[in-house]
Amino acid sequence: MNRVVLLGPPGAGKGTQAARVAGTLEVPAISTGDIFRLNVTEGTELGVTAKSYMDAGDYVPDAVTNSMVADRLSQADAADGFLLDGYPRTVDQVTELDRMLLSQGVSLDHVVEITADTDEVVKRLTLRAAEQGRSDDTEEVFRHRFEVYAQQTAPLAQIYADRGMLVQVDGMGDVDEVTARLLAAIGREG
Ligand code: ADP
Repeated sequence: MNRVVLLGPPGAGKGTQAARVAGTLEVPAISTGDIFRLNVTEGTELGVTAKSYMDAGDYVPDAVTNSMVADRLSQADAADGFLLDGYPRTVDQVTELDRMLLSQGVSLDHVVEITADTDEVVKRLTLRAAEQGRSDDTEEVFRHRFEVYAQQTAPLAQIYADRGMLVQVDGMGDVDEVTARLLAAIGREG
């Protein structure tokens, strides 16, 4: 019961919660955003490709993202479970993830969508931009990221809902409270 996808708009607190929930499940938290940022920092070819998209608040092309995730999921530490944060984000990525899991003979156990209030999220992102100096966190860029999320990623919740797999969790409130809600939603009480 340890294969989990976490969905949610930019700034909903996915990263923070992913680390906590993955810790409880004892599985790796796999964040595509973090992997891209690491590659940008290290100046790899993947990082160079990803950076222009990320800085504009656009998604990195599916072909690039999918092969990166396939590679990550094939590593030994993900064999017994994982928590995916920030993937899938497009319908094509849903299809590819299905294919990857099928080829390993496994399937997802939970898809959890963290929901958030837009004004609250804008406040959080402004704060995070100041703290971390992320170049994709200017107000204009993150407004664009919300639009991209609404257009490309919100429909994914419906796909998983149609499969009877989606659980929605309110991401507002303090961090511990949200973690407790998430763990309850996937049948783990902490
Ligand atoms: P946040 O959680 O704040 O939305 P992330 O750290 O998850 O942001 O991602 C930052 C950026 O990395 C995205 O805006 C996008 O450019 C790129 N990215 C991350 N995951 C994906 C993905 N699954 N597909 C395409 N691009 C992605």
